[in-house]
Amino acid sequence: MKTAIYPGSFDPVTNGHIDIIRRASKMVDRLVIGVLNNSAKSPLFSVEERVNMLIKVTEDIPGVEVTHFTGLLVDFADSVNARIIVRGLRAVSDFEYELQWAQTNRLVRPNLDTMFLVTDQNYSYLSSSTVRELAKYHGDISKFVPPYVEQKVLNKF
Ligand code: ADP
Repeated sequence: MKTAIYPGSFDPVTNGHIDIIRRASKMVDRLVIGVLNNSAKSPLFSVEERVNMLIKVTEDIPGVEVTHFTGLLVDFADSVNARIIVRGLRAVSDFEYELQWAQTNRLVRPNLDTMFLVTDQNYSYLSSSTVRELAKYHGDISKFVPPYVEQKVLNKF
């Protein structure tokens, strides 16, 4: 059974994330989405809210599980028996950070590989932070997140 993890903040999940989830889930038997519980950040949505939104918007995608984690990514991968980390690449600006972590994680766990999926061009500009910022000033986010998530974001402001 081939298991991959897809870690991130998902604050909130966007159509860009969902595109990566759909594509990655076809490549493995089991894709475990891990919501990072990072105490250093002050997120818009709690971990539970982010997990619940992800469960809702991925319910039609086979082989997907959603959970949360704290601490090291390599330990989270071990805990679900994953040997693949999935990450999305949008622009060159993502690259340096991602390369640094992919290489560090390989040094720490040589049997763990990072698999990068290049974003669909429709979503290359899209990030959770732009969605939060737009919503804060009452901009239209309906093109960027599923209706369920749009409602949850609107309820926050
Ligand atoms: P993080 O805080 O780890 O960057 P994010 O929730 O912002 O968490 O992103 C999780 C993953 O999804 C990252 O690999 C990121 O590059 C990817 N991602 C974010 N937005 C998009 C998008 N619009 N298209 C493709 N991948 C994306």
